[in-house]
Amino acid sequence: MSKTPTTLLLEHHLKALKLPTFLRDYASAGAVCSQERADYPTYLFRLAERELIDRERRATERRIKEAAFPVLKTIETFDFAAQVSLNEPLVRELLRGEYIGKRENLLLVGNPGTGKTHLATALGFAACSQGKRVRFTTTTGLVTQLLEQRETRTLQRLHKQLERLDVLILDELGYVPFSKAGAELLFDVVSRAYERTSLIVTTNLPFENWTEVLGSERLTGALLDRLTHRVHILEANGQSYRLTDAKRRLKRK
Ligand code: ADP
Ligand code: MG
Repeated sequence: MSKTPTTLLLEHHLKALKLPTFLRDYASAGAVCSQERADYPTYLFRLAERELIDRERRATERRIKEAAFPVLKTIETFDFAAQVSLNEPLVRELLRGEYIGKRENLLLVGNPGTGKTHLATALGFAACSQGKRVRFTTTTGLVTQLLEQRETRTLQRLHKQLERLDVLILDELGYVPFSKAGAELLFDVVSRAYERTSLIVTTNLPFENWTEVLGSERLTGALLDRLTHRVHILEANGQSYRLTDAKRRLKRK
């Protein structure tokens, strides 16, 4: 079908209005609607609905990309039977994301390989799908970035970016101790996030050992005070999934 001046102009306007789904579907939806003898509002409604669904999907994809998950893991691939110590009903409830509206924090504690990073990613993924802005980072990665941006006097910019988030995931607190300056900068992030952004922290360390990585007892106390004021704690005390998986594969050989 050759394009009339009207359709050419229509396509131009739809592009200018940033309605790509209208642009893609107006002709085919029109054909379907005329066949069904659907009225004009039905035609418009169908197009508007598709546009809205597509827009939300693109926004979710963008949020997932911006969250910078190291590997995209969701709850569908998490095997609760392999980690029986974990409170599954609590995980399911948290996936609904109400804690984010209440600015509550999550703390995932457990030995290496018990699925903490997997769960933190799955929770972050769920939050992205619910329209939330999320960022995933290792705790050491964030501290390095904070130290670097302090050097180049761009720390405020980083703080502004972090303040725009709904959820900040700090993975692996506890493997590497921080310098005094690093620990103070981390404390600054936690205290700015207090009652503003939900933090999801994963760690292999019980509270009494946090001083080992943060250095000062006073700073550790103040950080824990803010982090745990409104917190849900998920504990995984089972076997390492990696280890069990490797053993299972070795046995099969
Ligand atoms: P942690 O962060 O606690 O060290 P990870 O989340 O990195 O552990 O888990 C290690 C690997 O094992 C990952 O590939 C993860 O997807 C997988 N894994 C761990 N626990 C489970 C589980 N219960 N079900 C499915 N996969 C799991
Ligand atoms: Mg991990």
